[in-house]
Amino acid sequence: MRTEVRRPAFDPGILALPFYDRTHRAIAESVDEWCAEQGELWVRARTAAPDLSGTSIIRELGAAGWLAALDPAAAASAPGSDWRGLCLMREILAYSEDLADYAFSVQALAATPIRRHGSPDQQVRWLPPMARGEVIGAFALSEDQAGSDVAAIELRAETHSGGYLLNGHKAWIANGTLADVFCVIARTGGPGAFGLTAFLVPSGTPGLRTQPIDMVAPRAFARVEFADCHVPADAVLGGLGGGFIVTMDLLERFRMTVGAAAIGFARRAADAALDHARDRKAYGGTLFDLPTVRASLADAEVALNAAALLVARAAWDADHNAPHFARQAGIAKLYATENAQHIVDTAVQIRGASALVKDSVTERLYRQIRSLRLYEGASEVLRATIAETLGHRTASAGTVPAESGAAHAGP
Ligand SMILES: Cc1cc2nc3c(=O)[nH]c(=O)nc-3n(C[C@H](O)[C@H](O)[C@H](O)COP(=O)(O)OP(=O)(O)OC[C@H]3O[C@@H](n4cnc5c(N)ncnc54)[C@H](O)[C@@H]3O)c2cc1C
Repeated sequence: MRTEVRRPAFDPGILALPFYDRTHRAIAESVDEWCAEQGELWVRARTAAPDLSGTSIIRELGAAGWLAALDPAAAASAPGSDWRGLCLMREILAYSEDLADYAFSVQALAATPIRRHGSPDQQVRWLPPMARGEVIGAFALSEDQAGSDVAAIELRAETHSGGYLLNGHKAWIANGTLADVFCVIARTGGPGAFGLTAFLVPSGTPGLRTQPIDMVAPRAFARVEFADCHVPADAVLGGLGGGFIVTMDLLERFRMTVGAAAIGFARRAADAALDHARDRKAYGGTLFDLPTVRASLADAEVALNAAALLVARAAWDADHNAPHFARQAGIAKLYATENAQHIVDTAVQIRGASALVKDSVTERLYRQIRSLRLYEGASEVLRATIAETLGHRTASAGTVPAESGAAHAGP
């Protein structure tokens, strides 16, 4: 069987559009080159236990400088210091190795609330070591009875001894078993979204306990229990009652990056299917000679182009503080993740039985892709949100600078 052809993990034609500038193109090329050199790391990570693989990839990402933008002291040109750069990095990491995107994205997800809402002391304490990959973070929002419905969060934080006592649990927390610090959304006030507050809780705090959860794509997932877990008053992140704002400010932006990761996974699957179709002998020719196979691959290419443009638009809007960026982020995530699921399934269909061999590229992608339609806004939630804005076609010419190199509002 022919080995997979190594192509750029991104589409240079999309990167040549005015959404992007020279810095973005340079980041894309450097990340792609770095990923291509990490064959040994990826093999080690895939064969290690989830905790070990997660830790080793975060350490390597930090050492290589790919997490530098998480530290506010980083230069504005650090890779991932704007949303277009962050999306490109996720797309390329996802194409190269699903575990790499997972490690990168969870670290960025945990650091971004501190970057955007942290006090100077909180930023100095946590962000430089997170940017070096020496400290690992997790974002703990969901509970058994509070997923899409964030306002239903029950974990309580009561004032106690000059600080707060946390009681309750969090569910499905990515990097939960290996995090050094959790950003925890807890209830400090009455019912509803505005009774919530964010806290930074170090993992060694007495009363905090994690239990691993084995998911379909093995990662360091955990349920996190809080039993009389005391944190000082300065653990509050973003102000008392600001937990919902911290959460939505994060998720409304990260949704577009999930769309970007979906493009990376789907492009990898489509490439694997194309290589196989061109190589696989059938009926005196190859699978690629069959019109239905060609049409499936053409449909995948169209969807990948459309998804990449939607992500580019959303990231551009976020970088330029366009008022509707959250809507565009939802549109990009919905389209990219729904189509990525279909593309990965198509790739499995084209590759046939060999696609489902355990730990093959397509088998891993098949397991990995499913969760993207659930987290950071389930598809149905996004559709409902988009439907609320139908007919509101607002021009953003007044807010969006004409040049892509203009000042931006990055992570
Ligand atoms: C791989 C993975 C990683 C995760 N990582 C984290 C993490 O690091 N931190 C964290 O806090 N959480 C994490 N989560 C949890 C994730 O945020 C939740 O799964 C997500 O919010 C959905 O919540 P739920 O699973 O409870 O489903 P529910 O909220 O119960 O929704 C189930 C289904 O109901 C339907 N539905 C729900 N609401 C609506 C609506 N308004 N309109 C129409 N239909 C609706 C949708 O079909 C939805 O898929 C992760 C989940 C997964 C799968």
